[in-house]
Formats: sequence, structure tokens, C-alpha cells
Amino acid sequence: MPTPTLILGQTLTFTGNPFLEGIGAAHVDPQGALLIEGGRIRATGTAATLRKAHPSARIVDYGQALVMPGFVDAHVHYPQTGIIASWGKRLIDWLNTYTFPEEARFSDPAYATEIAGRYLDLVLANGTTTVASYCTIHPESVDALFTAAETRGMRVIAGKTCMDRDTAPPSLRDTAQSAYDHSKALIERWHQKGRALYAITPRFSPTSTPEQLQALGSLWAEHPSCAIQTHLSEQTDEIAWVKSLYPEARDYLDTYEQHGLLGSGALYGHAIHLEPREITRMAETGAGVVHCPTSNTFIGSGLCDVAGLIEQGIPVGLATDTGGGSSFSMLRTMASAYEVGQLRGRPLHPAELLWLATEGSAATLRLSGTIGRLAPGAEADLAVINLASTPAIAQRANRAEDIWEAIFPTLMMGDDRAIRATWVNGLEIGKAP
Ligand SMILES: [Zn+2]
Repeated sequence: MPTPTLILGQTLTFTGNPFLEGIGAAHVDPQGALLIEGGRIRATGTAATLRKAHPSARIVDYGQALVMPGFVDAHVHYPQTGIIASWGKRLIDWLNTYTFPEEARFSDPAYATEIAGRYLDLVLANGTTTVASYCTIHPESVDALFTAAETRGMRVIAGKTCMDRDTAPPSLRDTAQSAYDHSKALIERWHQKGRALYAITPRFSPTSTPEQLQALGSLWAEHPSCAIQTHLSEQTDEIAWVKSLYPEARDYLDTYEQHGLLGSGALYGHAIHLEPREITRMAETGAGVVHCPTSNTFIGSGLCDVAGLIEQGIPVGLATDTGGGSSFSMLRTMASAYEVGQLRGRPLHPAELLWLATEGSAATLRLSGTIGRLAPGAEADLAVINLASTPAIAQRANRAEDIWEAIFPTLMMGDDRAIRATWVNGLEIGKAP
């Protein structure tokens, strides 16, 4: 039986959604504590109370560092790790020029294994403990990521990307039947094994036939505890393309809805240029939006109305969208979400940004209470943030008049140097238990 561990620091907890309930729903205890045992958080409270109640616990004292849930990155493409920061293209050209040639390399399991390990180590160094990732059409690319996640103890959601239209290159095409069969076999091999969760993954309507979307909708009906992940309304030329490929659809969302791919547990990346009907249907069904601000600005897609979607009852999470996004860091992603909010005339409060990167993403993944929060019973995935990680950040934080003013410079200017420690499943990575 491992010794219980008491982690001390400035602890961040939420009692509600700060977008809906105000920043009073966020709490930072300057002398907080967590008791961790067996990979879970067993108790939260003040350092004084928990030290008294658990005198034999091992103490790890992080002082003034912010102890918070590990970041939950709700939309990434781990196979694009090697092409992050590729210059000069918008979505469709970007896919054809950079993405598809790189994804074709994942037919080699050794390459998939190399990139999966590299990718997960990069995100852990950035305080991210869970990702929801697209893989490539190759089932081996899914095995590679789940195996790498298992080795690191991480809770990862992932699935084989499905593409059967001639809009995708021949080397990256499956069929409606093989997409169903391979996805089903992967569900049986990985879903709910340890911390792995499967996401049925049609890339997006332009690269799938209606037959493939229907087959994947049927698969979801057979395995409703899986997530589905896809893309929605990222760029205006993409939306026009979808309309030409699906002339009978009422809107982009309808291409998914008609084929059984709308509901709670559906994750739509981007969702920038939405019709009123699409917003209404997502709110009615509990489908989630994943906001990818660094990607949306990098690829020139547009400005997602995060606050507006949340106010209309849609679950919204936050993501890097590696490698359409320009960073592996959820701190950098929160900075970008702030900038997008500014350009929309609605600056997001630091409490809202932190909520999006943890509980917001977890709830979108239907993992509220399991990850993304510091509360008894939650899995012990943590990020410990140094709020004075560089001279520039430290000099600004030093004159802060409250905790949010102390945190905000790190959200705007921080990177992997701000991550003092990352804990996965109750263990600090890189340290012996
Ligand atoms: Zn994406």
C-alpha cells in the first residue's frame, strides 16, 4: 500500500462554471492541500487541517506555486507533431500540403511509436495530463498512442481517423466497411482498458461519404460510451465545400446529425461559423464544442464565440489542435483564447480560462468528476504552476494585488518553464514513487 501523499500549495478549485456563475465559482486557497492515495484525490482542504488529520502522510510542499488539475487538451492530432508551425496555408491547402503526406508515414508502426512517445512527453512537460487525439487511418497509429499513454499512466482518448472520399489521397483512404470494422476492433482492444477511452473519429464530412458517416453512426449507437470527435465549421470555404458535397443537408451539423453522429459525447472541433439551428441542436443534445484558438488564428479561420456558446448551454472545452495549432502549451492556448475574446469584445477572466482548460474540457469529454478538478474521488492528475517562472513574469506578478492578477501574467506569457511538476495518476512524472 503506497504511503498517502499530502501536496501543499495554492490550490485551485471550482464550485461551478465561472462563465455562468461569475468568478466566485473559482477559489484559490493560498495554503491549500490535497491528500493523494492510490492514484486518486482522497481529500482537499487547508494545509493545517489535512496535516493534522494525516500526520503520517508524506509531504510535498510546493509553497506559493499553483496546484491545479492537469490540463485537459480536448482536440489534438498527435501525428501532426512533426509538422507543427508549417507556414502559409489555409485549411484545405494546409491539409494537402503538410498534413496528409505526414499522416501517410504512420503506416510504419515504428514511426508511429516514435512520434506518440515524443508527443506525450511534450504535453506532459507542458502540464497536460489528458488529450483527446485523432490518430491516422492506420489502426497501428492508435495502438502506438494508447500503448505510449499506458506506459505513462495517462488517461487518453483517441481513435482511428476515418476518410473514404476521393477528397483524401489514396494512401489515406479506408472504406465505410473497413472504417467500421477497424474502429470496432480498436474499441474492443482499447476502450475502457485501464485509462484508455475510444473516440470514433470521422475526420470531417468533406473526407467521408454519407455511407461512412452512417456506418460510424451505427457503431456509436452500438458503443454509446465511446466519444465521437470530428470537425465543424472551421472555415467559410470549408462550409461551402460541405454544402456542395451534401446538397440535401440543412447545414454542416446536419451532415453529422443525419447519420447518427450528434449527441452528448460528440466533440466538434472549432465550430466558429455556426447557423442558429446548429447552435440550438447542439444545446438540445448536449454535444460539445472544442475551442482551438491558436489554430484558429494560425490557419486564419475566425473567432469562436466561446462565452456565447456556453451561455446558450453548450459544453465547451479548450484545445491546442496540434499541429494546426501553433503550440503544445495550454498556457499559450489560454493566452490565445483571451486574445480571441478581446477581438470579439468579451475578454475572458483568468478563472474562465483555467476552467476551460480543466473542468470545461473534462465535461465536454463526459469526464466531469473523473479528471479536470481537485475534489475527493477525482483521479490525481495535477499541474503545479510556478507563477514567477521568468524574470518578466515574476516582476509583473510581484506587484499583483490579488490572486488573479498574480496568475494572469503566467497565462499570458508562460510556457513549459512555468510547469514546476506534473502528476499523473498520483505519481509525479520523472520521480520515483
Ligand atoms: Zn483538428
